[in-house]
Amino acid sequence: MNLQAAGTGLWLDNARVPAALAEGFALRDVDAGTGLATADLGVNRDGSFGAPPAGARRIDLQGRLVLPAFVDSHVHLDKAYTVARAGLPDGGLLAAVRLAGADAENWTVADLESRMERALVRAHANGTAAMRTHLDTPVPPLQCASWQVLGRLRQGWRGRLDIQAVALMALERVDDAADYAERCRQIAALDGVLGAFIAPGMATAARLDRLFEMAARHGLAVDFHVDETLDPEARGLEMICDSLARTGFDGPVMAGHCCSLATMPQADRARIIAKVAACGVHVVSLPHSNLFLQDRRAGTTPRHRGLTAVQELRAAGASVHFASDNVQDPFYPYGDYDMVEVFRSGVQTAQLEADLGVWLAGQCIEAARACGFGGLGRLIPGGHADAIVFQARDLLDLMSRRAGPRLVIRQGVPVRPDRADLSTLLTEEVR
Ligand SMILES: [Zn+2]
Repeated sequence: MNLQAAGTGLWLDNARVPAALAEGFALRDVDAGTGLATADLGVNRDGSFGAPPAGARRIDLQGRLVLPAFVDSHVHLDKAYTVARAGLPDGGLLAAVRLAGADAENWTVADLESRMERALVRAHANGTAAMRTHLDTPVPPLQCASWQVLGRLRQGWRGRLDIQAVALMALERVDDAADYAERCRQIAALDGVLGAFIAPGMATAARLDRLFEMAARHGLAVDFHVDETLDPEARGLEMICDSLARTGFDGPVMAGHCCSLATMPQADRARIIAKVAACGVHVVSLPHSNLFLQDRRAGTTPRHRGLTAVQELRAAGASVHFASDNVQDPFYPYGDYDMVEVFRSGVQTAQLEADLGVWLAGQCIEAARACGFGGLGRLIPGGHADAIVFQARDLLDLMSRRAGPRLVIRQGVPVRPDRADLSTLLTEEVR
């Protein structure tokens, strides 16, 4: 089956779409409970959504679910697929950090290239159109093999996968002013994002203020790993918000993990969440690595889930979404760069089923917004026809068969036209 919209264009009739993600289309049969609606999605011959001329080919999707292509806002391509070599941690986060650190001696250009390329192939095949990866940056980026490789991959994948790179550095790097200024200059030249790993006890007001001053000076977005711990005393996220208020930094800020938000006293949680909402920090929750690493002790069944307080964040109007984080490395030994799998893990762990439609729409919109990937996260008339057709009728059905076949369409063209199951996917009744 050839879906290519060459010639007169194409209609994908009777698609079920989240109404909140398809506002520019004529919607019918809107279900207030699930937020789903039916739409006929036109694809112009240039690969954009629109209204192709009379005579365009019509394919009846028979109510199959269609979502916009995904954004994965937090991954670690440099660590991907190392678990067989590096081993499994015998404890939590710090044990995984030690294993990854020891494995880093194997990170040659060839090793990085093959593992990172494999990750991009999987993400693309699963329907991801854009991702943000952290890269360990122990020395200035221009001296890092991972930044060299990423630069080449970014070029090679242009038009298929937009890739942002974050320089992941310990927060205390700011203490060496000259070195930090040079790193920021290089990050800006490489079109990167300023990253910081805030280990327990390392955040100070002075360090955070300095970081935001430098980010402002070099025009950098900022992305933190913060409070990746169940310690109810951890206050890195609050200190970030307080520093934003002091410095007036107005660039985009993302905060990953924030696990301690779930374990601290209610009054503290409410105060910090109000600050997060007020200063516009985007919180990204990483359910896979949190479930794997938090409360991990040999011989003990974990008692805590490790996830941040996603429901309370959203209720307060804060921006929150999920992302992959680690794939087949010491921080998480499974995974396939599949945002359906990631989202389902978040939904199940945080018990979000009652408002699944709201969470799905929020996921798509907030992930794109947090990274600044304009034009993604929604089905937009006139925008690229980047979408995923699922063999599912509704959202719970999607969650239940997340590994099932899907048809990924980019600019109106299937990414895997050779797949034997495509014709089955579109011609058989959804059962
Ligand atoms: Zn991470």
